[in-house]
Amino acid sequence: MGETRDNDAYEEELLDYEEEEEKAPDSVAAKANGEAAKKGYVGIHSSGFRDFLLKPELLRAIVDSGFEHPSEVQHECIPQAILGMDVICQAKSGMGKTAVFVLSSLQQIEPSPGQVVALVLCHTRELAYQICHEFERFSTYLPDIKVAVFYGGVNIKVHKDLLKNECPHIVVGTPGRILALTRDKDLSLKNVRHFILDECDKMLESLDMRRDVQEIFKMTPHDKQVMMFSATLSKEIRPVCKKFMQDPMEIYVDDEAKLTLHGLVQHYIKLSELEKNRKLNDLLDALDFNQVVIFVKSVSRAAELNKLLVECNFPSICIHSGMSQEERLTRYKGFKEGHKRILVATDLVGRGIDIERVNIVINYDMPDSADTYLHRVGRAGRFGTKGLAITFVSSASDSDVLNQVQERFEVDIKELPEQIDTSTYSMFLFMPSICFGY
Ligand code: ADP
Repeated sequence: MGETRDNDAYEEELLDYEEEEEKAPDSVAAKANGEAAKKGYVGIHSSGFRDFLLKPELLRAIVDSGFEHPSEVQHECIPQAILGMDVICQAKSGMGKTAVFVLSSLQQIEPSPGQVVALVLCHTRELAYQICHEFERFSTYLPDIKVAVFYGGVNIKVHKDLLKNECPHIVVGTPGRILALTRDKDLSLKNVRHFILDECDKMLESLDMRRDVQEIFKMTPHDKQVMMFSATLSKEIRPVCKKFMQDPMEIYVDDEAKLTLHGLVQHYIKLSELEKNRKLNDLLDALDFNQVVIFVKSVSRAAELNKLLVECNFPSICIHSGMSQEERLTRYKGFKEGHKRILVATDLVGRGIDIERVNIVINYDMPDSADTYLHRVGRAGRFGTKGLAITFVSSASDSDVLNQVQERFEVDIKELPEQIDTSTYSMFLFMPSICFGY
């Protein structure tokens, strides 16, 4: 009875929501759609999440989250994924790939006590934490479904106890810890029906991680759904991914060459190593940013540069693999919540991490490959919002990587002009509710 009433209530909410949209074409929603249509991923897919015939509890959470229309990748994948098909999917950063596997697994899961039925693996702890959070958000109205996240750097006994006392139905984790928990027989994967790899190219490219993933995979039943996602899926890695799958639906939303983000303005600056700090200082003074991520190539450089910025009174923090897990997560959360405006980081947060307010990415050190460049700059300009990426080029090999980026993704990256129009990369400047002080 209670359930029916609940359902009615949000059915109404959904109706209201759709009606409102029709009645008020110049509402914020319509504007957002206009913006999105310009960027080419609404328009053709103007049907809503309702058409996917998701559980009402999920639709209700979708309404709460403010999602108005499925993105292109969601439109392409969700209808098949909820039928249990294997999916391999490549689509630009920030286009909402997480919601594809979160919604489609929540749609299919019938929780049984003590059984882990879905397993999501990803390559960093921060990303695992973020994915778990997305599961929690979309399962708000499915209180019987429990989610937990397991990664290294946390006392394993805590995880063992949790598995024993409150076994989750969905497990998100990094391969090392998941493997340790299965080897010790604390985590049983024999009921897994959904096996998901996020940033799958990263997970399968390095042989060490691939070995772990394979070992975990072998512990799951043969009959299950496998889904894999990334913004970059080279021709070489695709067959490796497909070995884990049975006749998967292959969705490559973007042509390899067109992976760069529409809302993102990209520039480079040629300078010597010694000029980098000075230049960075000038940029941080001159640019209008909500939050900025500065990428460097090593742990020691992250710590050094952050120290320098703090000494110059910039509201900066750093995250790298040299710090304790607790510290890493506290800092990550602090930045996500807007307590600091500058994050100095290594490639640890180069992929997958979604921080809404980041509108500028600075490559203080050139990334090692075109793929890494694409993932890093994808931290700005999420879900079609505007952003700016500036890359320091200080050596011949830096220039080589920049050229590879331009060739591979068919972009023309120009030198940073003296003046840059704020409106091209800043989306929140006129929203007084989001303002930070130094
Ligand atoms: P990806 O994994 O493709 O890089 P994410 O899944 O991290 O992208 O999503 C990027 C951001 O877009 C997240 O903040 C997410 O909440 C938001 N988002 C996802 N789908 C939608 C949607 N349909 N409407 C509005 N925002 C969305």
